Amino acid sequence: MSMMQVNDLRGEPTFACICGCLMFEITVMWDMETREVMWYDLAQKCKECGTITTAPTPMDWRDCE
Ligand SMILES: [Zn+2]
Repeated sequence: MSMMQVNDLRGEPTFACICGCLMFEITVMWDMETREVMWYDLAQKCKECGTITTAPTPMDWRDCE
C-alpha cells in the first residue's frame, strides 16, 4: 500500500502534468544583478500530484525551429 508513490516521467520537456496541473515545484538559482532566474533544475515536481517531469528550456524551443 503506497499511495505516496512518486511517478518519475522525466524525458520530454513538459508544460503540463499528466494530471492537468500547470504548476511545478522547481529548484532555481537567481541572477543577483537582473533578479531573474539564472539557472533552474530540469527536474520539476507537479504541485498537485508530485509527478517528476522534465522542465522545458529555451534551447528545446530553438531546436524545434
Ligand atoms: Zn500532476
